[in-house]
Amino acid sequence: MHMSQRLDENQGRSDFFSSIKTLAFGFLAERFEGLTTGLGAHLIRPPGALDELSFLSSCTRCDKCIEACPQDALIKADAKTGLAIGSPHIDPRRTPCFLCTELPCVTACPEGALVWPTRLTHGGFNRSGPEAVFIGTAKIASDLCLTYEAEGRAASACQVCVDRCPYPNLAIKMEFNEEHTFAHPEVVSEFCTGCGLCVFGCPTDPAAIKIIPKQQLN
Ligand code: SF4
Ligand code: SF4
Ligand code: SF4
Repeated sequence: MHMSQRLDENQGRSDFFSSIKTLAFGFLAERFEGLTTGLGAHLIRPPGALDELSFLSSCTRCDKCIEACPQDALIKADAKTGLAIGSPHIDPRRTPCFLCTELPCVTACPEGALVWPTRLTHGGFNRSGPEAVFIGTAKIASDLCLTYEAEGRAASACQVCVDRCPYPNLAIKMEFNEEHTFAHPEVVSEFCTGCGLCVFGCPTDPAAIKIIPKQQLN
């Protein structure tokens, strides 16, 4: 047998075992996250992240995306987050994703754990880049949102979330309901990126809008 053929076979075997190891690691990391569900409920992955199991299998925790982010939006998960330790994530109440035009976090990833996003809308229009990011979907909590009446306070006008959204009147818009005095924000999931700029801007504490991470959406 030729030496280079033996090397190829050895390489093939080593690639195979390394893939199995990586997949098993991703699987275990995902199970850990499953066991701690709730802790990481409001935490989202960086733009372009693969689905959670593939992401955990591919991401080597090299920190290159974290270092590439000019907004300091990406942070390493610690034990308290409920996510795999060391994996990058976004806490939109701390710092949201600003959807940089060139998505430097994605292009910095050497492992393909973050990929250039593309997204098909119902109309068949294929979006690409920042507007195609899908890391979660914003959801309004009407018991906290100022535009709804709640115990101990009257409703008031507010549309900070819409004003902060990079896609106002597309991903989120104010809808008037005849039964209520003030218009309420409504998220259009098809266009919402999950960037969290609305969450960051919401004046209530806790925020009346949160991001449901992609991995928790059905
Ligand atoms: S798109 Fe920009 S702000 Fe958002 S995580 Fe990537 S580098 Fe950071
Ligand atoms: S910013 Fe917050 S309180 Fe204001 S409308 Fe949006 S969700 Fe409601
Ligand atoms: S609704 Fe919120 S999360 Fe969705 S795109 Fe707008 S600012 Fe980003």
